[in-house]
Amino acid sequence: MDCCICSPMASVYRPPRNTICSSCYQGARSMIAFLNEHDNDREHVTIASAVSQMAVQGMSHAFEKMKEMEEREKGTKEKLSFLDGLTALRERIHTDILVKPGSGPPIPAHRALLAAKSEIFRTMLMSDECKAPAEDAISFPELSHDELKCLVEFLYSGGLPEWSTEKHSYSMLIAADKYDIPFLRKSCEHRILAALRPSNALEVLQVAEVCSDVELKEQAMSLITKHADDVVFSAGYDELARNNAHLCVEITRALLTEMKHNREATTSPDETST
Ligand SMILES: [Zn+2]
Repeated sequence: MDCCICSPMASVYRPPRNTICSSCYQGARSMIAFLNEHDNDREHVTIASAVSQMAVQGMSHAFEKMKEMEEREKGTKEKLSFLDGLTALRERIHTDILVKPGSGPPIPAHRALLAAKSEIFRTMLMSDECKAPAEDAISFPELSHDELKCLVEFLYSGGLPEWSTEKHSYSMLIAADKYDIPFLRKSCEHRILAALRPSNALEVLQVAEVCSDVELKEQAMSLITKHADDVVFSAGYDELARNNAHLCVEITRALLTEMKHNREATTSPDETST
């Protein structure tokens, strides 16, 4: 179809002969509904009522809204870069505490920032007037120097550092759970899910189990049952059987349930009545 929006020939608006393809039609409607809803979010306007405003608001209005959103995003980025505390960390400006990893050198940091980012850190750092003042160092024996650096940089910047690896996402998810840092948890979950594949599914399953992360565990288990041949005959599965026998039991049950579903699906009357 010679769509007046997306066709390469559509350079001139030609009323009344313009036609629009279904993709452009649906896209435009959804975009307008989304932007109107976004616009009226504070008044709790539903998509249905937002759609009804289309005739008045139209695509030109939607374009204006998109430009506004771009401006807002630019403002948010500037604000983020203003709030970024990494310079204070890297240049050790007025640092007043050492955070000690299980191995490797300690990292100088700031008490106030650590206390502001985690209730657990706040309690660890709290000095009671009746007791001796809090120590000038806190220890994280379960974390390596790199892992602790990754955690501290996240607290100062709000993002996992670029140099951090997939393994760091796992240890950071566990740290987020232990030190109650919900935003770190969310960032790690997002990154782990994006990188989830059959070859790392067993590792993800174990991390999800440690953190009681239901969503992550379900996703990992689902991938494992889909790629059971690759996973169950891998060296990682032997290791899992040695260290986490109950997870092997869960995998076996999930596989049997999946097989049962598949069997039922292949013998369903819908399929056989053709
Ligand atoms: Zn089109």
